[in-house]
Amino acid sequence: MKIINSERLHIMDNQSSVWSLIRDIATTNNQEDAFYVCDIGDIVRKHKIWKAKLPRVEPHYAVKCNDSLTVLEVLTALGTCFDCASKAEINKVLSLGVTPDRIIFANPAKPASHIRHASAVGVTTMTFDNEVELHKVKKLYPDAKMVIRIRCDAVDAQCQLGNKFGCDPITEAPELLRIARSLGIDVIGVSFHVGSGCREPPVFRRAIAAARDVFDYAESLGYDFSLLDIGGGYPGGRGTSIDKIADIINSALADFFPEPSVHVIAEPGRFYVSSAYTLACNIHSIRNVIGNDPSTGIHSTHRMYYINDGVYGSFNCILYDHQVIVPQPLKQYPGAKYHSSSIWGPTCDGLDQVVENIMLPEMKVGDWLVFEDMGAYTLPVASPFNGFPVPKVHVVADENIWILLKDIVNFSDDHFEMIAKPTMNQDDFDGSNCLQSFPLRIEIPHGNGDSIFGEYLLDLVDVVPMQ
Ligand SMILES: *Cc1c(COP(=O)(O)O)cnc(C)c1O
Repeated sequence: MKIINSERLHIMDNQSSVWSLIRDIATTNNQEDAFYVCDIGDIVRKHKIWKAKLPRVEPHYAVKCNDSLTVLEVLTALGTCFDCASKAEINKVLSLGVTPDRIIFANPAKPASHIRHASAVGVTTMTFDNEVELHKVKKLYPDAKMVIRIRCDAVDAQCQLGNKFGCDPITEAPELLRIARSLGIDVIGVSFHVGSGCREPPVFRRAIAAARDVFDYAESLGYDFSLLDIGGGYPGGRGTSIDKIADIINSALADFFPEPSVHVIAEPGRFYVSSAYTLACNIHSIRNVIGNDPSTGIHSTHRMYYINDGVYGSFNCILYDHQVIVPQPLKQYPGAKYHSSSIWGPTCDGLDQVVENIMLPEMKVGDWLVFEDMGAYTLPVASPFNGFPVPKVHVVADENIWILLKDIVNFSDDHFEMIAKPTMNQDDFDGSNCLQSFPLRIEIPHGNGDSIFGEYLLDLVDVVPMQ
């Protein structure tokens, strides 16, 4: 695999490495900018979970969720396929050496030039949910293999999608299939998306049953459907699990699609990346507001903390993805009293509020707040509005994951420079060391990892910069 990524890869030796790395970066070299730590190991673990829980379902990672090259490279190496929604997403995935048959163009409403592009590069599988799209495809890409997207909404989801996409499986799908047939378009299967961040697992059974009916109707028209695409919706944050959803999917597949000839795919986004990214933000300003509770007459102070990332940056997920944000102070404040507090982004917009009201210990300018589960629907949408940059990402992998990945993906040692890392012991860390200033070539240990001692940084060398 070619490394075309300019993000830095750190190799660490234990589970708590993300927080210790954050501590190191935050206390090093006058660090002030907000930054991310992305744990590759977390993505690999998610893939293992997927393979174990949903062995029949081939994941097509939804690129829109987080299109970082690190994520795409790791998933490419792990052998997942991809769901792309545009020409640029297709190109990005193809640039990693992924073959076009590993891509589904899962946008039911595609601009003409994007359809032509899919045709030019050989991405054959595309979705549709309306008649106009069929006429476009007939004209621009008559050889495409089309997948009809039906609507089946979860009662409770973080983000509903059914208001925009998906035809009604009963009242609309049959007519669309008749039209497709008369146009000579090859329809090969059914897709749906129950809603992102699905909180109603049984919806998958309803949707799979509805897809079965569409399969049967298609057969009556002379089609021989072979693809079932069960979309996205799987949760991915810490403390969430896909066990329940997986049980429901597996039993519904066994009941409605027992024939192994039906290829089952999914389009997970959030599941793969949510917990892999942790964001650290610096408190740069504080305003104490004296309040007066009219019922008790008691004076109280509300603390407003201003941090250097907000809703125009990573926290756009509050507005667009309905995320609930949980701040955690990086430091401990033993014995501290807790106060009513709010957290604000850095821009001059009153809308730029990250947390409305939360009890926090009294913090100072320069202290850090950490936000976990920030990998999904954050970075791709973030803008540097008002002159506040989108945070940089530090990529971390623990040694065992690194050794595993190295074997799978053929990372060669030439791509990296090993750099010894300053001690992780907080107490004797004087903050004067720059992480990048200790170049040292060492051997990458093989085996079970027992012999590994200390911690190291790897710097990518010979990188082709991102465009
Ligand atoms: C956004 C999207 C996904 C990913 O959804 P998640 O809820 O993040 O898993 C999958 N498929 C399509 C068509 C999408 O638009």
